[in-house]
Amino acid sequence: MKSFVCLLSELLAVASVVSATTIPKAHKARAAVVEDLDARAPTPAGPYPPVITSCVNPMQAAVTLDDGPYDYLQEISDYFTWAGGKATFFFNGNNWRCIYTQPSQDLVKYAYQNGHQIASHTWAHLNLTQLTYDEIHSEMRRVEQALQRIIGVTPAIMRPPFGAYNDLVRRVARERGQSVVTWDFDSGDSTGATVDQSKQRYEDALGKHPSNLLALNHETKQPTAHQIIPWVVKLLKYRGYQLVTVAQCLNVEPYQKITAPQTPSPSWQC
Ligand SMILES: [Zn+2]
Repeated sequence: MKSFVCLLSELLAVASVVSATTIPKAHKARAAVVEDLDARAPTPAGPYPPVITSCVNPMQAAVTLDDGPYDYLQEISDYFTWAGGKATFFFNGNNWRCIYTQPSQDLVKYAYQNGHQIASHTWAHLNLTQLTYDEIHSEMRRVEQALQRIIGVTPAIMRPPFGAYNDLVRRVARERGQSVVTWDFDSGDSTGATVDQSKQRYEDALGKHPSNLLALNHETKQPTAHQIIPWVVKLLKYRGYQLVTVAQCLNVEPYQKITAPQTPSPSWQC
């Protein structure tokens, strides 16, 4: 037993020597990448496509719904369908509810089959700016995998949770073939605005007669589903805006790839 302990401590000693020689190299390589990114950050064009905050086409409104799939998706989808418009759903994998539950899978399919755009809001709604390169990849990969499994699409557009990004997030998004899209209008529904306040925000924004609108809302909020969306869908139409997806208002493809959905399996877990 004693000799085993000795052997173990020897092995640990060797391991620590190996670590001591390898870890600094890894850190050095990592630091080099970070320095490289920092050096490029001040250049607005930079090596990365700019983060998109607005639509490009005139008289189009892209209404976006974050944080689902959740209970109110079908109602929201139906309002847009009734109005002859489309919305964009930025889905999480495991935020308010696991995307692999049967109700969630059905809602993802419902949104997709009704012609709305399906985009990535990453897996667990973490602040990506606090994560490592590998962790950001993982947060993005897991929700992409879920969407590939459930509806067969690989999204071309992602929105970082909280709209929080840095150069590392932009780098990972580019490596995954995705554009980073935030918004130019926030209904305030996730930050404490009442229904009246959200409506007032919309009225104030539209009162400036913007050429177009890229609006942030949350499908997980009941007042948004029951009161704001029905109201704003009518208002936007009345003001002459076309209700389109984010991809449509940017003239880009919504998906990198479309394949056949997969057969559910027990490995589909959150
Ligand atoms: Zn969110």
